[in-house]
Amino acid sequence: MEELLIHNVEIWTLDDARVIDRGWLTAGGGKITNLGQGSPPPDIEAKTIVDGQGRLLLPGLVDCHTHLMEYATAEINHTQGKAQEMAAAANLLLALQSGIVATGEHHLGHPVLDMPMEKYKEILKATPLASAIAYGCCWLGFEPKVLTSATRPGAAFTEDVLTDEDYLLMAEASEFPGENLFLNYTCANAPLDAAPHAGGVTYDREKLSHIVDLFHGKGKAVGAHIEGDASARLFIEAGGDVIHHGHHLTPEIGELMAEKGVSLVLTPVAGTSKRPTSPEETLAFYRQGVFLALASDAYIYPHPEAQWISLAQDRLAGPAEYLRIVGSTLRYLVEKGVDSSEALKLITVNPRRLLRPGEEAAVLKPGRPADMIMCNKLPALVTEDPADIVLVVTQGHIQVDKRAAI
Ligand SMILES: [Zn+2]
Repeated sequence: MEELLIHNVEIWTLDDARVIDRGWLTAGGGKITNLGQGSPPPDIEAKTIVDGQGRLLLPGLVDCHTHLMEYATAEINHTQGKAQEMAAAANLLLALQSGIVATGEHHLGHPVLDMPMEKYKEILKATPLASAIAYGCCWLGFEPKVLTSATRPGAAFTEDVLTDEDYLLMAEASEFPGENLFLNYTCANAPLDAAPHAGGVTYDREKLSHIVDLFHGKGKAVGAHIEGDASARLFIEAGGDVIHHGHHLTPEIGELMAEKGVSLVLTPVAGTSKRPTSPEETLAFYRQGVFLALASDAYIYPHPEAQWISLAQDRLAGPAEYLRIVGSTLRYLVEKGVDSSEALKLITVNPRRLLRPGEEAAVLKPGRPADMIMCNKLPALVTEDPADIVLVVTQGHIQVDKRAAI
């Protein structure tokens, strides 16, 4: 007896370019157990049976750079204390309802929020998402400059108070290489003129190499918030693993990333003091062979120069806007000849690999995670409306079903 059978669906496996135009898929024990073309074999029994009525089935969306559990709980939900825990779970629920089956969360410390490091993992574990969390420290480019750290939540420092012990704690607790370090001062969500130091370089070569070595010594890859070639080069030369944002990088750095196997998590909506990476620049990195993922950095205000994204600039964009954040870039890649399945990997298979490096690619194939979405139209490429994602399955179970509402 299978737990779940979905039939009468067009299956985008994302395993190469394989699309099964009318097929079926079964799941059990959290994994895909079988799939095929045409009608399911008559002897298959399942506890839950879904007739997809010709809709599309794809691996679930993965947003590998978000701040839903920490910063968003203050800025969107206005919570602290115990209520922060509720807000964190509520924001993850909104992601799931938007078709996002895994997020790359961040705990960077916060001047007010003092939820301890382990609590974030506890909340995540109680959800059906395949999210991972990165612990880090953050330099804010205000006057004076301010440092926060996951290891010292609920406090802000005007000088560097962190010791090796702090970095080792971050490394040990981190589940993926997110924004562990800020190589450039950030303006976070503040207007640029409120953060006069935004964009400035935070670490020298020696200090950065030392911190990267501390992470690697714990067997952990390290990621960093980066804008501009100088910081990217410093990070790559120090042995860093994943560049987040990477705004204003030249093709020269693209070549270096491809050569050294450094991954790039692009946030096309905003995230640094500089203009985000355009669809054209993204295509160039793709063609250079850089391992790419697209992320929202939710919640964040759209950058005024991100003209390829049609979102209100006075509203923080989050999980419900994910398809609009990534849509223009993915459509541009396809327009320029990139296969649709390959383009969709940038919001599914690739970011998931960054969150869960030990896992086999999360394509739709027997033995792989049963984390899927069923959609009216192809997400990002054809529709940017999360209402078109009508079914969200994680761990082989239906978690969100919008069909009755349509
Ligand atoms: Zn971020």
